[in-house]
Amino acid sequence: ESQMEAGRRAYELDRKHVFHSWSAQEQIDPMTVVDAEGSWMWDGEGKKVLDLASQLIFTNLGHKHPKVVEAVKQQAEELCTIAPQHANGARSEAARLITDRLANDLNHVFFTNGGADANEHAVRMARLHTGRHKVLSAYRAYHGGTHLAINLTGDPRRFASDRASDGVVHFFPAYTYRSHFGSETEEQETERALNHLRDVMMLEGTDQVAAIVLEAIPGTAGIYVPPPGYMEGVRKLCDEHGIIMILDEVMAGFGRAGKWFAHQHFDVEPDIVTFAKGVNSGYVPMGGVVMDDSIYATFADRAYPGGLTYSGHPLAAAAAVAAIEAMESEGVLEHVQRLSEEVFGPRLAEIKAKHPSVGDVRGVGAFWAIELVQDRDTKEPIAPYGQTASVMKDIMAECRSRGAVPFMNMNRLHICPPLNITREDLNFGLDVVDEALKLADDFVDRK
Ligand code: PMP
Repeated sequence: ESQMEAGRRAYELDRKHVFHSWSAQEQIDPMTVVDAEGSWMWDGEGKKVLDLASQLIFTNLGHKHPKVVEAVKQQAEELCTIAPQHANGARSEAARLITDRLANDLNHVFFTNGGADANEHAVRMARLHTGRHKVLSAYRAYHGGTHLAINLTGDPRRFASDRASDGVVHFFPAYTYRSHFGSETEEQETERALNHLRDVMMLEGTDQVAAIVLEAIPGTAGIYVPPPGYMEGVRKLCDEHGIIMILDEVMAGFGRAGKWFAHQHFDVEPDIVTFAKGVNSGYVPMGGVVMDDSIYATFADRAYPGGLTYSGHPLAAAAAVAAIEAMESEGVLEHVQRLSEEVFGPRLAEIKAKHPSVGDVRGVGAFWAIELVQDRDTKEPIAPYGQTASVMKDIMAECRSRGAVPFMNMNRLHICPPLNITREDLNFGLDVVDEALKLADDFVDRK
């Protein structure tokens, strides 16, 4: 009862004083989370719901993981703040553990507060390193909400912000299901998307482009895994023209895609990797830029013009060390790979076969999307581009009332639970989604 009262009070104060991201403030009805453990959350109305979106923070190890909680407590007792110019054990150790999981020459970490600022700094570093200004980024990408990061973002949310594009040029990514090039196979898509990118580079002036920014596997924009050869082709184009390849691993990194970093599914070594969220399971805000030795060398004797008060905050760094060690010692990557092959893959294929409203299911690791359409042949989305249809809201409400919450964006549901979710819980969550999708089928039927 007292938890319900606390939940009610939290809700009322939230609606009075808290301004929410990406929302019309008077149209939202946030779920209050009063407690959470493992893959489950308690919603303030006495209901237990399965977290199929890892709170969007990519709580990869689930809620209240004892080792991460303990590490933060211990660190709080030892040292809670560190000026950016000093050194500290937690930050040093986190940097070692992160760089150890990347290619040999990716050795240096600049810690930030989250993903957007990591991308901002990555671009600044690439510009200073190359002496060039333009940056290429993909339509159907998400890179964060700050000035440059939202301009890098290739989804409609950028329209309303400052339109000074600041040297950003968008290109069409490889996306076989909704090919921008009319491709029917992955081979065609790889070839055509790379030709398109080559043209964009040439028309913008290859000697003017500092960097290309790409999500290793695009997340918020639809979890569409690049077709074979695409990432390798991008790497080759960058090498030919001295362009820095920045891979945004904010969402896909740290085990989400079944490997430490999603780009490790491909034969590529980026020059810069950005990360956040999963690095410490989202327990304390932290992001970062990992740069290779050659970019580091640019700033060896020349000051890097940028910094953050909380760069490598000890509580965040201690959580990162504990989270990475727990991922390793608990065999989390292996668990994700098994879930991917034995549960996600087959069950989502069944869901697609059963529901006429499902146009595509795709993903890897514990990173999956269901794309809803009005018609499988025309692929007309169930929600218009850039909008949320009421049927999507109804599906989400149905999921919640049945006890599981996925993530929704435009015409897609994303299923990205904590990486250590049990098979039983995941199967329960997929049952819920399966049931709720009847609403989408009914909607399509009525059309
Ligand atoms: N890049 C990607 C790929 C992301 O998914 C996000 C957050 N969803 C960001 C950047 C921005 O991170 P933050 O919200 O921590 O600024």
